[in-house]
Formats: sequence, C-alpha cells, structure tokens
Amino acid sequence: MCPPLVCFRCGEYYGDETRVRCACGEPLWFDTPSTDFTWADCSDVESIWRYEELLPIEQPNGVARAAGRTPLVRSYGLDGAAGCRVYVKDESENPTGAYKDRGSAVAVPHAIEAGTDVIGTISYGNMAISTAAHATSLDRECIVLVPEETPSARLELIAQYEPTIVQVSGDYGALYADGLSLSDSLPISILVSDAPARISGYKTVVFEIYESLAPDTPDAIVLPTSSGGFASGIWRGLRDLVTLGLLEELPRLYLVQTATADPITQAFEMGATDITALTADETGETIAHSLGNPDPPSGARALAAVRETNGAVVSVTDAEIQTAQRQFAVTGGFCVEPAAATPLAGLTQLSERGVIASDESAVIVPTGTGFKEATGDASISTERTSRADLPSLLDSLLAAH
Ligand SMILES: *Cc1c(COP(=O)(O)O)cnc(C)c1O
Ligand SMILES: [Zn+2]
Repeated sequence: MCPPLVCFRCGEYYGDETRVRCACGEPLWFDTPSTDFTWADCSDVESIWRYEELLPIEQPNGVARAAGRTPLVRSYGLDGAAGCRVYVKDESENPTGAYKDRGSAVAVPHAIEAGTDVIGTISYGNMAISTAAHATSLDRECIVLVPEETPSARLELIAQYEPTIVQVSGDYGALYADGLSLSDSLPISILVSDAPARISGYKTVVFEIYESLAPDTPDAIVLPTSSGGFASGIWRGLRDLVTLGLLEELPRLYLVQTATADPITQAFEMGATDITALTADETGETIAHSLGNPDPPSGARALAAVRETNGAVVSVTDAEIQTAQRQFAVTGGFCVEPAAATPLAGLTQLSERGVIASDESAVIVPTGTGFKEATGDASISTERTSRADLPSLLDSLLAAH
C-alpha cells in the first residue's frame, strides 16, 4: 500500500503520488506506511526488496533486484584515523557502484507504473549512470541531460547503458528547476535527487544498518551531502523505524560537505533553518566532483535531520579528502571515490574536536566506488626485473620485511 506524500516542514499531505514539491516549495516524501512491520517480517530477499512492505511499490524486475543489501563491515583498520569504532556501510557494492541505485531501483519503476514511458535525469555523474542502468533494465528509454563540456571518460560510463545523451549549453544548475516543469508538460519523467520515490529507496540503507547491527545500535551515522537527497532518505528511514516502534534512540547524523561549496554547513553554523544558495563566485573546484551543489534542493530537510538528531554538518578540504581516500585504501582496503571518502575526513575532524568519543561507534557511508575514477595520469612507482632475475629480486624484497 502506497502511503501519501507529506511535507516534512508544513505537514501538508498529497494524494497524487507523482507530485514532487509541496505548495510551500519543499520536496515531498512518502509517509511511513501503516503496517505492523517487525524485523521478523523481512523477506529473505538479498536486496532492498527485503523491506518491500515499507516501500511504495512491489518488487519490480530489472537491475532493481540487485540494489542494496551491501555489507556493513567493522573496519578496525580505520579506527585510528577516525578516532572511534568504525563500521563501513560499503555502498560501492551496488550494481552501478554507488548508493544512487537504491533510489533508482524504486523511482524508475514507480514512474513507469505511473504511466511514463521515458525516464530522464539531469546529471553527468553517478545519478546519470544509475538512472540509465535501471531504465534500460526495464526496457525503457532514458534521456540524460549533461553539461556541454562533459569529459568523454564520464560520457563513456553513462553511454554503456545506451541512453540518449543530450549535451546542454547554458546554466546547468538552473536546468534542475526546468526538470520539474518539463516532466509536467512532456511525456517524460525526469528523476532528480529529490524525487520522493528515490528517498524511499535511500531509506533502506538505514533498515540494513539496524538489522545487521541488532541488538547494538550506532552512536553516529556519517555521510557526504550535496543535494541532501541521501541525508533525507536516511532521516526518513530513522523516522519510519521510530514510528514502527523499532527504534528508540536516534543516532546523531553527521553530514560532510566539500569546503569549496558548503551551503548546508554555513546554514548550520549560522543557526539558520533555510539554506542560502551560493553564487558562482562563492564556490570553487573540488576533487569530490559528486559533491558541491550550491543550491541543494533537499538542503533544509537535511539540516532539519541534523538538528533533530543532535548531529552536525562539517566541511572538509580537498587535502583532507585526499588523505581520507588514501586511508580508506591503505588501512581499510576500500576503493572509494573522493566524495565517498569525505565521511572519514569528517569523522577525523569531529573526533579531534571531541564531538565523537573514542569509545563511540560510527557508521560511515562511502557512497561510491573509486573504480570509475582512473584518469591514467597518476605516476606509480614499481619494481622492475626480468623473469630470470625475479627470484633474486623477491629474495631481497622479502629480506627487507
Ligand atoms: C550523489 C552522491 C553524493 C551526494 O548525495 P546527495 O543526495 O546529492 O546529497 C555523495 N556521494 C556520491 C558518491 C554520490 O554519487
Ligand atoms: Zn510544505
């Protein structure tokens, strides 16, 4: 049973399940379904559809069946860098290597059920890759709107699923608002970060964390934040669990932004409830290309989640991100993209400030794999030898250990 859409801010309900925004301007999300769900009711399905009863649609076909059920790993190796007990919720193990698949797995079939034949999205990153994969797996057309100057390495990752890719010139940031009206006037469903059914998909990450850790619960959950969609999904999941009587004490939510474009951090520090969009000269370049939305559509909702859970929003520099990415690989064994390394960088900062204690547990969510990232321009140091000289080289290498 599909619950109604509701606004987190003004509490207004909407019966039209294709609506995206409240009359007040905030994005909508699906309310907690009215069921008496308990953990015993999880199906034995190894994907997000384990929690089908709590999702707005029934399990579809396609690659949606491969989304979620990612490992939650106690990573002792990362404790030192983080300054507390670290669990890694490894979202790189989704079909397209990022948490976005949880959202696409629900939003794409939800739009099709509502009568759309063509799916669209506005992205040249993980959102584009994921949406294209889910649409084609249900035999639907997908149109991906990318900026004019998109590097071919990025286009190649999207193009493997054979969507129609349209390079759009002009103000790419402003296209986001156009997406809503284009979906209303044309037979296409443009699914961007705050599509309500996406948020429903994202919330399953919380169900998985609590189901795997039970009877323990984490003190904190730390994740990167750009548009605020994923943070909203996590908050939705927590609220569902509270409403269902399955969670008493909320974890503190810590959101991490790139210092080059951090409107949510700025609002948090000023004690504001609304986000002030950053202008072009208030933002900069970052290696964390999946982050840095200057006008986050779900920003106010993400900020409300932080306040409600006694968490915080912090910003990290590219240097901190690089260090964290290296720590993820070298001490954890995880290959993460720069954006996905930010929760570790943020956690390091939070424990240095004494906000997280060394005996506390934090779930960090690396949101996307680093395996898409190779640029081919890194200088790598190696040993060289011939086959004949290999034994003596190995002998001296091993003697050094
Ligand atoms: C999209 C994305 C984010 C940001 O998520 P929002 O929902 O926009 O806040 C973070 N990390 C990765 C890897 C992403 O692809
Ligand atoms: Zn509202």
